[in-house]
Amino acid sequence: MSPRVPFIRPVMPDPHLIGEDMGAIVASNWYTNFGPFEREFSTRLGDYVAGNAAPPGSERGDGVHVVTVANATLGLLAAIIATVGRGDGTRSILVPSFTFAAGPQVIEWCGYRPVFIDIDHWTHQPSVESARTALEVHDVAALLYCNTFGIGNERIADWEVFAADAGVPLVIDSAAGFGSEYADGRRLGLAGACEVFSFHATKPFAIGEGGAVVTRDPAVADAVRSFENFGFDRTRSSTMPGLNAKLQEINAAIGLRQLALFDGTLEARRAVASAYASALEPLGMRFTPGLERSSVCFGAMIAPDRESRDRVLDRLVASGVEARAYYQPVAHLHPAFAAAHRADELESTAHAADTVVSLPVHSHMADDDVAFVVETITRALDGSNVDVVEAS
Ligand SMILES: *Cc1c(COP(=O)(O)O)cnc(C)c1O
Repeated sequence: MSPRVPFIRPVMPDPHLIGEDMGAIVASNWYTNFGPFEREFSTRLGDYVAGNAAPPGSERGDGVHVVTVANATLGLLAAIIATVGRGDGTRSILVPSFTFAAGPQVIEWCGYRPVFIDIDHWTHQPSVESARTALEVHDVAALLYCNTFGIGNERIADWEVFAADAGVPLVIDSAAGFGSEYADGRRLGLAGACEVFSFHATKPFAIGEGGAVVTRDPAVADAVRSFENFGFDRTRSSTMPGLNAKLQEINAAIGLRQLALFDGTLEARRAVASAYASALEPLGMRFTPGLERSSVCFGAMIAPDRESRDRVLDRLVASGVEARAYYQPVAHLHPAFAAAHRADELESTAHAADTVVSLPVHSHMADDDVAFVVETITRALDGSNVDVVEAS
């Protein structure tokens, strides 16, 4: 049975318009390999990221390089190869355990060992202190930092300083964060060596499968572009490790349509987050700091303790609300990474895994659905066993 409130429900552009785009693609006989839709899309993405960040007097999009990719996982792979090259299995890359499995998977594919670091107890963002501990013990080649839930870390500048002092690149997994802002109002995309975004159907900016690597460094952009095209240089000689990770024209076309709708998408998603927060914070729930300036991939909520989290989650699921608990299991508890090193006890990671709830957020969520989620949680916390009366 399909849930009453699904976890994710992307709003796609009008299928007729996508049909028109497909017609143009067929007419031009250009389906992939950096065609006109892809070039327009990467330019517009750069304008968007730089849109509220350009220093006075500079052109919008100045010095911003965008390379589209088939998905963010391959984008992360390309970013590591572009910044530190392929490893021989002896060196390490630091990565938070409180993230999606793609991060540590990619580290291993690139020939490095993942070393898991902890998160900050309060913000759930990767902990610089934990990374510093790991740096003393391991031969670290790079940092695969993650903006947790696509929320821009308030301390991103500390991470940049830490990476510079350590002399290693800071590759940023901002997969869920296209459209999010850092605390200073700049959009995500311009920090570290590069930031990697996902445009998967489950993310706020959804085109199906797709992503982008955004950087200020033209050398990183060139290497990513080469990586995703078999390691080819301009003469089509393979000169570095490569794969096929290019974005198709049709996905770029969908992306252009989504970009035109994106202001409305963000406004609607942030309104849901704020409705959740104002109704549920008085009941002792806490929302991840910075959620309101993010693109809100879901309602990232923290319960006071494990018992109430489990009660809330069970009640939601039993009532047909497809809530989740991201990221549980945390990465270091996946069997594939059981043998990986850990910087420390990862205490805050364990605590977060025990207390998080991920609430559904849709780009155009019915008020009734928001009210139903709030009501269900309220009753779960009351301990009331009275069946929830459907709002509609
Ligand atoms: C979604 C996600 C990815 C993977 O993105 P794909 O485009 O599906 O490959 C990687 N990291 C994080 C943190 C994510 O949320």
